[in-house]
Amino acid sequence: MSVRRSRPDRILVVDDVYDNLLLIENILDDEQYSIELASDGFSALAAIDREPPDLVLLDVMMPEMHGYEVTRRIRDNDKLLSYVPILLVTAHDQTSAVEGLDAGADDFIRKPFDTEELLARVRSLLRLKHSIDEREEMLRQREDFVSRLTHDLRIPLVAADRMLHLFLQETYCPLSDDMKEALQVVIRSNDNLLQMVNTLLEVYRHDAGQKKLTLVPCNIKQLCQDVVQELNPLAQAKNLELTLETDAASEADAKEIKVLADQMELRRVFSNLIGNAIKFTDRGSIRIRLNQSEHNPTDLTVISNGWVTIAVQDTGAGIPLEDQAVIFERFRQGRNRRADSGLGLYLSRRIVEAHQGKIQVESKLGEGSTFTLYLPTRM
Ligand code: ADP
Repeated sequence: MSVRRSRPDRILVVDDVYDNLLLIENILDDEQYSIELASDGFSALAAIDREPPDLVLLDVMMPEMHGYEVTRRIRDNDKLLSYVPILLVTAHDQTSAVEGLDAGADDFIRKPFDTEELLARVRSLLRLKHSIDEREEMLRQREDFVSRLTHDLRIPLVAADRMLHLFLQETYCPLSDDMKEALQVVIRSNDNLLQMVNTLLEVYRHDAGQKKLTLVPCNIKQLCQDVVQELNPLAQAKNLELTLETDAASEADAKEIKVLADQMELRRVFSNLIGNAIKFTDRGSIRIRLNQSEHNPTDLTVISNGWVTIAVQDTGAGIPLEDQAVIFERFRQGRNRRADSGLGLYLSRRIVEAHQGKIQVESKLGEGSTFTLYLPTRM
């Protein structure tokens, strides 16, 4: 696929020798290029910050800031939204361009250069730039599309859920027991689908930076208790013990374990962790432990008066070490055969991080897993 570009390609030429700048400007004198000149690394970086070019032609030997250093700074610049290719221009006696390429440059040419060769390398890097831009644009369009599609999918699923419940309540006609059972199966499947669509939509909201948290003081113990109560039938169906413990001296102390949080979002995290623990455990128990600690228990830099730790421990299948490293990433299911979409833990991590917290896993294959959340109390 090729995208027609509405403007000439912008090339930034950086060299401390004015004559060299003019020479390259003359060679590139073509209406399909718009040329900007910079006489040192600092002004080149400032120009890139102002308006990122489509290509940088960068002299290596410059006083004050070397071309390799300029290259490194361009590559370390998180504010650059699209890729900026770099062509290094090195002197003939500089034997190696390895350092420049390792610093992140895409290609190099030695001085004195052949005009045709310079033009060919410029064209080649601009082709690279165009194809990267096109791929990024396609990815962005696909994300937008999935987000809109997911949103639209919710409407018929919610409508179907309402209708199915009306049928089940015999609003339209009497039903036999077999019919009711069948309807219940359809309602559960529809609900699973709706949950999946909701999770996908939430993930896209977080990823697009559209998620706004509604922060209120939340009673963490109460929230955990609600989720435990809701999921207990699933644990009982598998003969699993599901318990919630706190280290608080009294019920009144436990009530004080509060976090400034978005209640719905935290509930989603607890449901996911406890739901996973039930799903991946066949015998034994699931213990949820709530603790308060004064000092930062992880390597987090957030300043807080205190921390709440919520640990969900199961005696289930466990997670192989290689999977532990990736399960918090998007669409990573691990290799457990019961895996679903692989979005639950990714979304949980995004939510916990949006609350300035952290989520970790410790697990042993065949023995079980413990997922631990750290949330700052700040109250
Ligand atoms: P999924 O929808 O696949 O459950 P998650 O993001 O919630 O997605 O979990 C990612 C993967 O991590 C799961 O597919 C599973 O392989 C592994 N996993 C998560 N929780 C547990 C657990 N408590 N015990 C064993 N494996 C787990």
